[in-house]
Amino acid sequence: ARHRLSGIAGHQSVTPDGKVLGLAANISSLKELEVALSSGAHGVGLFRTEFLYMDRNRFPKEEEQFEVYKSVAEKLAGEPLIIRTLDIGGDKQLDYFNIPEEDNPFLGYRAIRISLDRKDLFKTQLRAILRASSYGQVKVMYPLISSVEEVRAANQVLAEAKQELEREGIAYDPGIQVGIMVEVPAAVMLSDLLAQEVDFFSIGTNDLVQFTLAVDRMNEEISYLYEPFHPAVLRMLKQTVEAAKRNGIKVGVCGELAGDLRALPIWLGLDVDEISMSSHSILQVKERLLCTTQEDSRLLLPQLLECRISADIHQKLKQFMDSVD
Ligand code: PEP
Ligand code: MG
Repeated sequence: ARHRLSGIAGHQSVTPDGKVLGLAANISSLKELEVALSSGAHGVGLFRTEFLYMDRNRFPKEEEQFEVYKSVAEKLAGEPLIIRTLDIGGDKQLDYFNIPEEDNPFLGYRAIRISLDRKDLFKTQLRAILRASSYGQVKVMYPLISSVEEVRAANQVLAEAKQELEREGIAYDPGIQVGIMVEVPAAVMLSDLLAQEVDFFSIGTNDLVQFTLAVDRMNEEISYLYEPFHPAVLRMLKQTVEAAKRNGIKVGVCGELAGDLRALPIWLGLDVDEISMSSHSILQVKERLLCTTQEDSRLLLPQLLECRISADIHQKLKQFMDSVD
């Protein structure tokens, strides 16, 4: 199937009625970037930087991070690169950084909370990202944002990092775009306000589903309750995208759901700008995009939003898929 599809790698990702939907790649290493490039990804919509921290027995130095970010930016040759700041904690631990045992690690000391607590580490990473921004179209993104204060505090550290580089005469892109992951229900509820603080949103459906439904994404016992096509999730998606549009900022989706073929009419119906997924899904999604109209998706969306139960959403999406085939 990959062979059959490889012919469309160079095609523009556009629906028959002209809606351009960026198909970007989620990567967590340089090696994964190669796969992304050969799949015709429109840039990297999520660079998970955790591997840089997990691959060693100490925090990576600014220079080490810079080399990696720069290398990815250069290989993308001007295509966008969204670098997410450190998102450890929860399911991702570091041996050399002792996070005390927690009863609820997904609700605990993690992601942006660590960065704002350890501003030294955070600023080192931001400096490395800023320096890489003069080698491509680099954007920075904060994970697990749940309030306006957090965005402002993170942007304060970013401003300090910029000033330092300025003083040191080191180049960076002064117009670097800043975005947040929308993956906590509080961020959805505040999305109208958060949209006024940043340049873009990226919806992280993995955590958003977990937190919206109060279902641990790692717990097998309750995995049957982990339902991305839940009416509550659909409303969250709608509210977030609408807030972004009303405020004129870009909105993408980067959780697993972004690469799920069934969800494509949802993204087209809501009119998101980009979906970012595992490189292995890109060609399949593109094939589907090339024969799915935004008009039909727009007609389907209100019907999905009317559904009271997930089974009905599944059924309508299946019917839609079968009609496109
Ligand atoms: C998400 O939560 O949807 C996401 C993309 O981030 P991660 O899976 O790394 O938590
Ligand atoms: Mg997440």
